[in-house]
Amino acid sequence: MGRVSISLDDLPLRDDLKGKKPYGAPQAPLPVALNVNENTHPIPESVIRDIVGDITHVLGDINRYPDREFTTLRESFAHYLGHDLTPDNIWAGNGSNEVLQQILQAFAGPGRTVFGFGPTYSMYPLLTQGTGAVWTEGTRDAQFQLTAEHAAQQVRDAQPDVVILCTPNNPTGTPLAIDVIEAVYDAAPGIVVVDEAYQEFAPHDAVSALTLLPGRERLMVSRTMSKAFAFAGARVGYLAAHPAVIDALRLVRLPYHLSALTQAAATAALRHAPTMLAMVDHIVQQRDRISTTLRELGFTPYESWSNFVLFGGVVDTAQTWQKLYDRGVLIRDVGIAGHLRVSAGTEAETSAFLDALASIESGL
Ligand SMILES: *Cc1c(COP(=O)(O)O)cnc(C)c1O
Repeated sequence: MGRVSISLDDLPLRDDLKGKKPYGAPQAPLPVALNVNENTHPIPESVIRDIVGDITHVLGDINRYPDREFTTLRESFAHYLGHDLTPDNIWAGNGSNEVLQQILQAFAGPGRTVFGFGPTYSMYPLLTQGTGAVWTEGTRDAQFQLTAEHAAQQVRDAQPDVVILCTPNNPTGTPLAIDVIEAVYDAAPGIVVVDEAYQEFAPHDAVSALTLLPGRERLMVSRTMSKAFAFAGARVGYLAAHPAVIDALRLVRLPYHLSALTQAAATAALRHAPTMLAMVDHIVQQRDRISTTLRELGFTPYESWSNFVLFGGVVDTAQTWQKLYDRGVLIRDVGIAGHLRVSAGTEAETSAFLDALASIESGL
């Protein structure tokens, strides 16, 4: 290759992708990284040993393609989710982002529209555009909340082919009441996807959209092992829906899309679900400590049922973000004026963030 510098603009890129920006949360090797809602607790040594054992076993057959239907893993997810789900109701991919992409490949695409209530997960518009569909956005109230009536009315007006509801919502942390999901489903002419990536961080008595699945064949509920299960690096997301929906996803997935290593690691981790989830309550405590302390510092944190907190009242977001960065703490500017988002880490990481922010506020 020559040395002439070629940029994206010089390539015969699809017209509808011209000028678009890729997903780009900064990745920086800072001591305290609380910017992408990872679970910062490492997985326990005993679970690691079990996973390694299963992966070692699988390596003996790695010359063969994996089970295309990842049967054992689907059984494990059905068992983990409960709600009388069977393996026929389950799908999985390399992160729930891949599952969402497959849903949009099957149900969106050119000439179709995908709808969500902003501000919401920044990957939805990108995944939508990737399939050639158009992303449209509804609105929330000043607290980022939605009533059943307001949500359903907006969906009736938009008539989208696909609705994506994120609950608890990223980047705001806002939960959606189950009656809002029901009303949106009744108002929607097409598919309704409920992204429950953070559901395990909700109160123990919170009602999951999984309870709505019976009798609603256009509804799908996605989950991920990235957050609660501390498995972001393994890339495992999954979905519960009517078996016919799962058949639709088989039309668009790549053959053997889930590697034998991924299937083995996820299945082994699910055997240890209670151990893997043991950190969740601890993270929720840190999340609530963040909210309380932010309020004491004069910021306005929003109600969160997730593992992060969005807070307003930041006078200069770029400057506060940079000053935290300079103190070794990485959080996220999600592009909402006057607001920043921070993930709840370990107790020590959370303290490092709160102490750094307090020192910035006091002008130290
Ligand atoms: C983190 C996150 C996901 C998970 O993505 P993976 O691809 O499973 O890592 C999905 N949805 C939302 C809203 C998220 O914040």
